[in-house]
Amino acid sequence: MQQQKQHHIGALQEMDANHHLHPFTDTADLAQRGTRIIERADGVYIWDAEGNKLLDGMAGLWCVNVGYGRESIAKAAFTQLKTLPFYNNFFQCTHEPAIKLAAKIADLAPGHMNRVFFTGSGSEANDTNLRMVRRYWDLKGKPGKKTIISRKNAYHGSTVAGASLGGMGFMHQQGDLPIPGIVHIDQPYWFGEGRDMSPEDFGIKTARALEAKILELGEDKVAAFIAEPFQGAGGVIIPPASYWNEIKSILAKYDILFILDEVISGFGRTGNWFAAQTLDLKPDLITIAKGMTSGYIPMGGVIVSDRVADVLVTEGGEFAHGFTYSGHPVAAAAALENIRILEEEGLVDKVRQDTGPYLQDKLQTLAAHPLVGEVRGMGMVGAIELVANKDTLARFDNEIGAGMLCREACIAKGLVMRAVGDTMIISPPLCISRDEIDELIFKASQALSLTLEKIAAQGN
Ligand SMILES: *Cc1c(COP(=O)(O)O)cnc(C)c1O
Repeated sequence: MQQQKQHHIGALQEMDANHHLHPFTDTADLAQRGTRIIERADGVYIWDAEGNKLLDGMAGLWCVNVGYGRESIAKAAFTQLKTLPFYNNFFQCTHEPAIKLAAKIADLAPGHMNRVFFTGSGSEANDTNLRMVRRYWDLKGKPGKKTIISRKNAYHGSTVAGASLGGMGFMHQQGDLPIPGIVHIDQPYWFGEGRDMSPEDFGIKTARALEAKILELGEDKVAAFIAEPFQGAGGVIIPPASYWNEIKSILAKYDILFILDEVISGFGRTGNWFAAQTLDLKPDLITIAKGMTSGYIPMGGVIVSDRVADVLVTEGGEFAHGFTYSGHPVAAAAALENIRILEEEGLVDKVRQDTGPYLQDKLQTLAAHPLVGEVRGMGMVGAIELVANKDTLARFDNEIGAGMLCREACIAKGLVMRAVGDTMIISPPLCISRDEIDELIFKASQALSLTLEKIAAQGN
């Protein structure tokens, strides 16, 4: 039996190596290292084909907010698949799941946002944003307002527009990005780039880069500013408290649109349905995906404010944009059931009042570890910065690969954490219990010690 299973795993791995091109992966390197086949999942745990049980500290890819194994989402999707597996929302047609989901999201979103444009992913949603803000300014008779200001080390997806809006240099290097009309300002990454000032001053300084860029380009050329509430893929970078206040006053001063990319933060991760509510921001457009369906079925979208919708709808005529799967009925049915679970179990309130603060408290206990230079987080996300010297907070040389060593140590201890350089990040399912948080922190601390041992063994 065991041998048969091993044989099966080996055959799958070989097929994978021969035929499957993985996203964001060095394929040649992967073939060397081998792959882990994930077989099943339940609650906050995943199991690989070899039977190892891992606590999923990343909720898949920031998305499985209600946890794995939800029968009711499977049933909602199955029922919808039998009734109406597909119909489009083009050509004067619509269907109940898409209608109800749009209305539900409008209900949960900030009061000035009442419409939703559906897409198949977060990247498509940001592509939609790019076209929508430019369309908005054309309709307003200001066709010169085309440039979008984003931030270095932002992540807004992987399509041509998404990767261009994003500020990842290693992505821009491939495919001649960014496309014209997108510029990037400095990020509010205090631990990485601002330690010569107080967090407060650094927050103001990096926010003022927005104003400087608007003035440099000319307000009549700027369409929008796009930002994540906290940079997720960039390393769970949480701006200093002063940052958003300064950004808000700059946005109030200039006539540009504000796109808040809530693909990670949306649907409860910061303890409110949207981080716009947590941070008291007033975006014109909100990007959503990931937690929208808890990843059970792909779906994304843009929540559109009345300000933008009024122009688009009353003056716009046809918005020549959309996807075959915009508002897909099965995805919409899964999203509705996902939201119902979040509501019924009070998971968003729980993150705000109970498990979120509990996770943040427990995370801070890791700050004492000799390998850790800073711990930060909010709601149900967190980051642990690994440093070579705890006193000077000096970072490791890149060649050491401390983050990768720690990621492997986590797996050895039964925990999935992601490494962004030498920043370890977590974003667990919102349904995680206090006991499971204790387990996560215990495993993380064991993994940190194992990492330290491995680094010492390398002679560093
Ligand atoms: C994941 C992500 C995206 C892209 O979403 P996809 O569904 O992968 O296209 C966009 N923005 C942010 C903030 C994300 O984390």
